[in-house]
Amino acid sequence: MISKIIPEEKILQAKNWLEASENIVIISHTSPDGDAVGATLAMYHFLYSIDKKATVILPDAFPDFLRWIPGSNDIIIYADNKENANKTLEEADLISAVDFNTLSRISIMSDAVDKAPAKKILLDHHPHPGHFCQLTISHPEISSTCEMVFRLICRMGYFAEINLPCAEAIYTGMMTDTGSFTYNSNSPEIYSIISELIKKGIDKDQIYKNVYNNYSAERFKMMGFALNEKMKIYPEYKTALISLTKEEQSRYACKKGDTEGLVNIPLAIKGIIFSAIFREEKDNIRISLRSQGDFTVNKIAEEYFNGGGHVNAAGGESTLSMEETIKLFESILPTYKEELITS
Ligand code: 5GP
Ligand code: MN
Repeated sequence: MISKIIPEEKILQAKNWLEASENIVIISHTSPDGDAVGATLAMYHFLYSIDKKATVILPDAFPDFLRWIPGSNDIIIYADNKENANKTLEEADLISAVDFNTLSRISIMSDAVDKAPAKKILLDHHPHPGHFCQLTISHPEISSTCEMVFRLICRMGYFAEINLPCAEAIYTGMMTDTGSFTYNSNSPEIYSIISELIKKGIDKDQIYKNVYNNYSAERFKMMGFALNEKMKIYPEYKTALISLTKEEQSRYACKKGDTEGLVNIPLAIKGIIFSAIFREEKDNIRISLRSQGDFTVNKIAEEYFNGGGHVNAAGGESTLSMEETIKLFESILPTYKEELITS
């Protein structure tokens, strides 16, 4: 038996709105990850199985290692199809927002979503949800939005309608948001849910291979370079930092998603509990922060890098140069020395 975490009145409201709607748009955040793509496609397959028209719109492209998920070819990328996407958003009678907490997280799509006349439901697990939906289902204690999708569907009485593609999409987000069940993964109910998904026919070993065992040779060489030449260790702060300029990324033909997971690797070094990666993009530097244990990284992302996220995984950006961003990071570390050495 899986416990009832989402309050009953929210389940009933979501059920009423979903059942009363015919034309539903599902959206998620920029630089979509496994949980964003998994949760949107799980909702998509579920809604089709109850005879609703559903469309997934994402602000920008998702990584190639998620292309195997059934339905991913039907996703509309807002950046490439603004006109069509705006029309679809305008005509929707319900918008289901998943795996993000504020409109700023959908960047170029935020105005169109804000203006859309549709009712909006937020289903998310990031702290501090904004007030842009009439119904907000926010549970930061749940490790993935995909797990929340499973819980929502079941509580609405539609367990039987979870088909194989829906189950595969759910498992993908549960797996990727917990580093293949190596962090945020001690809740026993995660494994009860996985057990149900396996009974639905998912091949969890194959899903792992689809997502993680498909690196290009260049990607591995880029990782080798990053770890060998671009990783700085600050042992007195139990911290590691990797930085990659645009030029360094293009040297290894680095594509979207190729640096995903790289930030976690230094956490495997004995004594390191805080890891950061700075990746130069066209107009800014993308920041990813990871930690283990009690050391909280979303505070740092919020305070210094215009970002946010979870206790152990957060992100943000810097508009300073790479050199200045590294200097800023190094200047922050002494402030957190006590927390870092006692964590
Ligand atoms: P990643 O490092 O994988 O890009 O992101 C890690 C976590 O931080 C994710 O949960 C993501 O939603 C959150 N995050 C990443 N970038 C940003 C950002 O710019 N703003 C906010 N608020 N959260 C972010
Ligand atoms: Mn997530």
